[in-house]
Amino acid sequence: MADNLKPHRSDYQILRRVVVDYMGRYWENFIGGIVCMLLVAASTAATAQLMQPILDDVFLNKDQTMIYLVPLAIIIVFVFKGGAEFGHMMLTRRASSFIMVDLQNQLFDTILKREIVFFDHNSSGMLAARFTTEVMMVVNAVVNLLVGYVRDGLSFLFLLGVMIYQDWQLSLIVLLVFSLAYTPVLLLAKRSRNDSATQQKSMGVLNSQLVEIFSGIRMVQSYGREKEENKRMKETTTKIRNLMNNIARLQAMPRPIMEGLTGIAIAIVVYYGGQQVLSGEASPGELFSFITAMLLAYKPAKAVINLHIQLQMGLTAANNIFTLFDSPPAIKDKPNAYNLPKDDKNGWSLTFDQVDFSYDGRKKALQNMSMTIPAHQTVALVGPSGGGKSTTFNLIGRFYDPQKGRITIGKHPIQDVTLASLRAKVGYVSQDIVIFNDTIANNILFGKEDASNDDIHRVSGKAFADEFISQLPQGYDTLVGENGVLLSGGQKQRIALARALLKNAPILLLDEATAALDNESEFYIRSALHELKRHHTIVIIAHRLSTVRDADCIFVIQNGAVVESGNYQTLLGKKGVFTQLHEFQSAVETMDLNRPVRPLVAPSS
Ligand code: ADP
Repeated sequence: MADNLKPHRSDYQILRRVVVDYMGRYWENFIGGIVCMLLVAASTAATAQLMQPILDDVFLNKDQTMIYLVPLAIIIVFVFKGGAEFGHMMLTRRASSFIMVDLQNQLFDTILKREIVFFDHNSSGMLAARFTTEVMMVVNAVVNLLVGYVRDGLSFLFLLGVMIYQDWQLSLIVLLVFSLAYTPVLLLAKRSRNDSATQQKSMGVLNSQLVEIFSGIRMVQSYGREKEENKRMKETTTKIRNLMNNIARLQAMPRPIMEGLTGIAIAIVVYYGGQQVLSGEASPGELFSFITAMLLAYKPAKAVINLHIQLQMGLTAANNIFTLFDSPPAIKDKPNAYNLPKDDKNGWSLTFDQVDFSYDGRKKALQNMSMTIPAHQTVALVGPSGGGKSTTFNLIGRFYDPQKGRITIGKHPIQDVTLASLRAKVGYVSQDIVIFNDTIANNILFGKEDASNDDIHRVSGKAFADEFISQLPQGYDTLVGENGVLLSGGQKQRIALARALLKNAPILLLDEATAALDNESEFYIRSALHELKRHHTIVIIAHRLSTVRDADCIFVIQNGAVVESGNYQTLLGKKGVFTQLHEFQSAVETMDLNRPVRPLVAPSS
């Protein structure tokens, strides 16, 4: 996550937001849970209190009725406690699962709306980790907060009540020693917070490494990189292990002091209380009830302190998530943005007017770029790699905004219209086509979810995909495997084209695959584009001579600007950059490696 976005929030503000905005939605569950917890705490205290009649009435006074009553009371108290524990666990866990899903949904929605730059800086593995590790940490803090602070806190208070009732002076001594014992834990909790934040980040790194390696497994195996990848992975896991050990050490360090002091407190009680019993000032039952209450109170008191540490981790995670919620997407509709009209009688043209753009604020990817792409024409963008062709596509869809200049669609500046209406006008077929692990029909339906079967067949026909799909054993219901592994490159392109056509966008941006298509696919795609020309404005990043020849106009883009433009013949006549590119292309296509070619002008950086 971009750390520069991180605003300062106090623990109180974060906690308040978790409680008010998330727990508040399920307050009935939490109130029910708290009531149940009160009952649990009361029954725990009752158990301690019962020690007095057990010892004094049953064992010492040998009271016959109490022999029946006390066991009965014990059963009633425990059954009651069981019921109350059931109620509080069900209610609070239920609410926390709702909170978890709410957070995940909100996180997903927030991330989906983020501008592409955000994804340039956050790997998919990192983002996926936020859905699991971070959300779980927040939810754990919420649940523990309730279960712990409230239940254990209440139990402690009730038991303290029993202790004070039996002997207030002894209780004071015990409280004093307990607070001495727990101060170091509370002090160290803050320190474990930094480690916890680093651990959360490292989990994200681990996740992205895993995603990267498993999805690129063929590469790893074919380059024999298993040993290196193992080493890289070990470095990450070792870092996480060390952090976990650090956190554990911080948590464990105060234990000897804690336990030692607790032992001293118990010893004082036994010595002092024992003296009182021996001198007849207190009954054995009273002392026993006090000791039971104290021993029972020890566990919840310890739990509340431990929670403090968990809460610190939850707060770190919550802060990260809230930071994301609070940082608005950099690319969004202007306050007075309007929808592009449904149709333009002249068709949709595109204009770049003196556009400057840099991805990193240093190196310019586009520099004073101006070009006009007339409606219903097919325009090819050519030029050396890194010249800025793909960047123009990125700007047309407003995945990035230019720093200077203006881009218009028809007569409308793209920054003035709504993102949704702009993107609805643009169909995009990228070079590395994204095919989902689903049926062919669903892959095409991605373009327009509510389209009918007839529509799917129609666009597949236009993209010349219908024939090969029909020949597959399950036709349109064929599952294509992850990334469409069961399809050839040309088939994937035709499916992607059908998907873009289903969207029915008047502007088509096509990033032609650099890899050679089989002759059949190339023929079909050319025919499809020829047909589409009448109703669409088509911009192609072209790598093939055939595409360039078919175009109405060619823009040669180099160093972020248009350096030549015109049709195929005019450009060849200029004997400039295009002619050089052309020589290269023909050499590549005819594979005539002996033919002399002039070196391409390298893009200046
Ligand atoms: P082309 O499509 O002509 O090969 P691009 O538009 O992809 O060229 O790239 C233009 C310049 O912008 C190159 O210098 C490239 O390194 C840089 N560039 C492209 N994409 C990004 C990105 N996401 N972040 C930073 N720089 C980028």
